[in-house]
Amino acid sequence: MFDEVKGFAVTLKRGFMPNMTIQYPEEKRDMAPRFRGLPSLRSDPDTGEALCVACGLCARVCPTSCLDMHVIPSEEGDRELGEFILRSGRCMFCGLCAQVCPVDAITMSSEYELSVMERDGLVYTKIELAQIGSQSEIWWDSGCRNVPAGS
Ligand code: SF4
Ligand code: SF4
Repeated sequence: MFDEVKGFAVTLKRGFMPNMTIQYPEEKRDMAPRFRGLPSLRSDPDTGEALCVACGLCARVCPTSCLDMHVIPSEEGDRELGEFILRSGRCMFCGLCAQVCPVDAITMSSEYELSVMERDGLVYTKIELAQIGSQSEIWWDSGCRNVPAGS
């Protein structure tokens, strides 16, 4: 009998507490600064040009080989990025690609609604990745900035 009363007391107490649930997808939570969503490509906010210098480091470090890039010769005789492909179905959102990039051209976005009906939808091109990440912060910086010193 006492257990029933205790249970009823808990129900009553909870009834007066603020809601802990949200009505997704109408309401969405703010993602934590260190959240690792879809990797995406950043661009220069002034010129809009992609920051990627086509060094290939991100593709080399990726543990699941889900990054693929085509490098083309630039007009200056150097190299530039032709296409940049992310096979998100293989991505494990580890963030290594963003950590090794020497120019912070690739970052972890807060994009998490990634379900698709066709497998082709899991393949992102340079333009799509740039649309998602163009004005994103440098994830690695934003994450570290919010971590208390010494932790
Ligand atoms: S987050 Fe990890 S698995 Fe995904 S593309 Fe970057 S390095 Fe590869
Ligand atoms: S995103 Fe960064 S690491 Fe990857 S190829 Fe471009 S410059 Fe290199």
